[in-house]
Amino acid sequence: MSDTALTNSLEAWFKANARALPWRLEIRDPYRALVSECMLQQTQVARVLEKYQPFLDRFPTVQSLATAPEDEVLAAWAGLGYYRRARMLHRCAQVIVDDHAGIVPESVDALQALPGIGRYTAGAIASMVFHQRAPIVDGNVTRVLLRVHNKPEPQADNQTIRWAWHRATQLVEAAADPAAFNEAMMELGATICTPKNIRCDSCPIRSHCQALANGTTESIPLPKPKAKQKPMYCASIVSTIDSANDSAKARSVLVEQRPSSGMWANMYQVPTIERDDRQSTLQEITTHLGVGADAIEPAGSFTHITTHRIVEFVIYRVDRAQMGPNQAYRTLDSLDQIALSNAQRKVLDLAGIL
Ligand code: SF4
Repeated sequence: MSDTALTNSLEAWFKANARALPWRLEIRDPYRALVSECMLQQTQVARVLEKYQPFLDRFPTVQSLATAPEDEVLAAWAGLGYYRRARMLHRCAQVIVDDHAGIVPESVDALQALPGIGRYTAGAIASMVFHQRAPIVDGNVTRVLLRVHNKPEPQADNQTIRWAWHRATQLVEAAADPAAFNEAMMELGATICTPKNIRCDSCPIRSHCQALANGTTESIPLPKPKAKQKPMYCASIVSTIDSANDSAKARSVLVEQRPSSGMWANMYQVPTIERDDRQSTLQEITTHLGVGADAIEPAGSFTHITTHRIVEFVIYRVDRAQMGPNQAYRTLDSLDQIALSNAQRKVLDLAGIL
């Protein structure tokens, strides 16, 4: 099997079968590509489809993003998770404006020097927007390559990743259209050569695939050892006040901003006490809020799982808690303008607020 035969098959398949995603339909603009690539890191396409256009409507240019307050950027990012990416994209826009006269640089090296832009994103923008022969490797690409070469290895292993970049570089050199080849590899991994329910019957490179020939597709890549997630316990207190006419729209809820580092940095939440063990007591909550125990009503609980944490939330409802430092009542209408994590939206949902 030659690399050219493989890349030709993939490029032809992609051109005939690519999903009509909005960032593929429009003329490739470097700023919009930067936004879509940052959103697509670690987030499902379906979720990105909901957020991509509203984000661009709010920040249509790199300049508008660079000059926006961070709060507004985080609010527009709400629902995509991994908020560090939003902060880095914001910082990246500022560096493009300050150091590159507002023009996204074209070379992989210059792109990679921007905040939050790794080798993958730099390669994606350089190849898809600036038509350079730059490789890209993500989980999808690595999985496809491991299967094509029948290599039973864990895909997050450093040695595997180095090998994948080496192979991707060779293949993009062989490609007639590097952008189409790169997108084809990602599309194949996302839609056909998936982690489970692999659709080899529909695969354009099945005749090149050594794992298929050896009957090992299901066992490649090897499963990664599970990272141990630490437990965390949160008591969240939902305190509301109603305006004089008592309409739902005039209701306000007490929120506070989280610290600028650590989990959900700088995002907003209802007052929440966090512990690494189950030590938060009703007394702590009443002291924290300055209310009596009889003013507090349990409102539910749920478990929220992140990459590194298993977070147990217990929710309490209380009327008119005292405002503490860094806390404020915000109307329900204005909650869309602040960055609330999905976990905090669920807190408000269980408390009957959203
Ligand atoms: S034949 Fe199957 S395992 Fe091989 S690359 Fe195609 S989809 Fe993946």
